Amino acid sequence: MTEATSKVQARHLKRNAYLYVRQSTLRQVFENTESTRRQYDLRQRAISLGWRPDQVVVIDTDLGQSGASAVDREGFQHLVTEVSLGRAGVVMGLEVSRLARNSTDWHRLLEICALADTLILDEDGIYDPAHFNDRLLLGLKGTMSEAELHVLRARLRGGILNKARRGELEIRLPIGFVYDSEGGVRLDPDARVQQNVRQLFRTFQRTGSAIATVRAFRDQGLKFPRRIYQGPNKGDVAWGELDHSRALWILHHPRYAGAFSFGRSRMRKHPDGRIVYKRLAPEEWTALIRDAHEGYISWDEFEQNKLRLRENAHALGDEREKGPPREGPALLQGLVICAVCGERMTIRYHQRGALLQPDYLCQRHGISHAQPICQQIPGGTIDEAIGKLLVETVSSRTLEVALQVQRELESRSAEAERLRQHEVERARYESELARHRYMRVDPDNRLVADSLEAEWNQALRALGEAKERYDKQRQTDDASVTDEQRAAIIALAKDFPRLWSDPRTPQRERKRMARLLIADVTLLRGTELRAQVRFNGGATHALTLPLPKPAWALRQTSSEVVSEIDRLLDHHTDAEIAKLLNDRGMTSGEGKHFTRLKVRKVRIAYDLKDRFSRLRARGLLTLDEIAARLNVCSVTIKQWRRAGLLQAHRFEDRGQYLFEPPGPDAPVKHRWKMRRKSNASLTTSNALNP
Ligand SMILES: [Zn+2]
Repeated sequence: MTEATSKVQARHLKRNAYLYVRQSTLRQVFENTESTRRQYDLRQRAISLGWRPDQVVVIDTDLGQSGASAVDREGFQHLVTEVSLGRAGVVMGLEVSRLARNSTDWHRLLEICALADTLILDEDGIYDPAHFNDRLLLGLKGTMSEAELHVLRARLRGGILNKARRGELEIRLPIGFVYDSEGGVRLDPDARVQQNVRQLFRTFQRTGSAIATVRAFRDQGLKFPRRIYQGPNKGDVAWGELDHSRALWILHHPRYAGAFSFGRSRMRKHPDGRIVYKRLAPEEWTALIRDAHEGYISWDEFEQNKLRLRENAHALGDEREKGPPREGPALLQGLVICAVCGERMTIRYHQRGALLQPDYLCQRHGISHAQPICQQIPGGTIDEAIGKLLVETVSSRTLEVALQVQRELESRSAEAERLRQHEVERARYESELARHRYMRVDPDNRLVADSLEAEWNQALRALGEAKERYDKQRQTDDASVTDEQRAAIIALAKDFPRLWSDPRTPQRERKRMARLLIADVTLLRGTELRAQVRFNGGATHALTLPLPKPAWALRQTSSEVVSEIDRLLDHHTDAEIAKLLNDRGMTSGEGKHFTRLKVRKVRIAYDLKDRFSRLRARGLLTLDEIAARLNVCSVTIKQWRRAGLLQAHRFEDRGQYLFEPPGPDAPVKHRWKMRRKSNASLTTSNALNP
């Protein structure tokens, strides 16, 4: 006590004594009242050291919370604050190092205590963190406490992992499975549960998408089972709507393919206390044991489903994957890639007449960076050209050749397959051997048992790897086609052109066929349209197409009509030309009759000189000009024109005439009078001579 009293000084006693009471879980709070009592005993010690009872502050807000990180613990934070403000003369706790469950928190508290001249008191004694020896001791206590926690956790986890690797760990089963009395996994004996799980897989098989599966369940009013894991009805099956996340979860769960798996995701705690789960790739799983029990689907089906889901997932991997075929008419939906930037192009439709016309556009980058879109390509002509290409390519002859090559490859790969099969067999034999050895050893002989277990694990891993290699290789080789499939393919090939052009074939089916054959189409818009078609299987084909005309160009008057108008303008007015063109059955770009105004529009649009300017260019004269030339007044000219003495062209829209330049026989005022007389005499003589 002399040591303790020498450390406690008047300056410490002036400040408060903080008693930090810590329990980690609610269960401990209930069961471990003993330690709570001990913690409150510390209060008495503080009082015996000279603090007044009203100076002892109890911090126990953390009751019921785990101490693994400082964020969760308000009480601990409060304590640190009080110490750093210099209000604490002593900090008390049962095994003080457990105040903080990780070393960083603990060392920080020590640091602050040393600076604020605060003592630390636990059941073993009183420490002054400012003293080197005490500090060393406290630091050690913290480290030990953390190490203990770690060892405890590792021991627990290690046991679980070992069991998991052997596939013996009993974990919660997904709906549709139950444990039998021997601890084996069986399909749920409830026929209705089984049926509905099977229905989910069948529906997915048919529709190819999780959302469509959910929709089908909803449309048919089907319920999906769910096991209750908590509460009074624990263990019962509840029936409810199937939702998307649940369907996805089931489709991704290896159990349904009869496989035991463990460690498919990793949990990580963020500094702010958030918990984040990350899904791992199969090769990172802790354990995967195929054919561990009966399943609802085969492993191959499981893999295929996963592949399909991945393809459906637009969000995954830069949207570079294809989406499922949707209803719109664009044939290449989800297959088009921009040749400029490599992004997958999206579709926008626009109405043209009664038809929906697709445009393929690359806009993702543009949207996210607020820039103009990268490429926009009218889709109609491309779709048409690709359709033609497919019909040409998929003739039965080309397919037959392909199938022949296939057969050749198959026979070669069969040999290699046998060799790999042997390898797997050997690995299996070795793992069996290791298992026997392990089983036979006396479990009390820990040293031997441990090393044999390690050996067995090693053998199992080797077997897993050999199997994986085998399956992987087989998958690449296993483009092998059965005779039946071969016949079906040939039949399809013969049928393909008919099916393709049949108007009753829904566009969605055409899209599906295109997807079967085409991996992707890369588009580049330059002076013309270049499309690089990559077929499934690696063959490529380049297409070059003229750029389709923009909408205004399609409504344009054809060049023949324009040149005809140009020709006719030499001799005719707009109104006359309109009539002439209509008589010949020519139509405007929009397919309509010509009118004077329409001819005028074309004339102006193509910068054709009108009839008036053409005649002026030829030297024809206006009224005033010819009047000046002939040295008469304009009224006289008008009279002469009416009398047919002057050649003139009438321009109704201008209300004007143009006159041919007068020749040597042009009328003069005097001669005209004479002529008029002679005309008159002629008339008279006619009248006189009936
Ligand atoms: Zn682009």
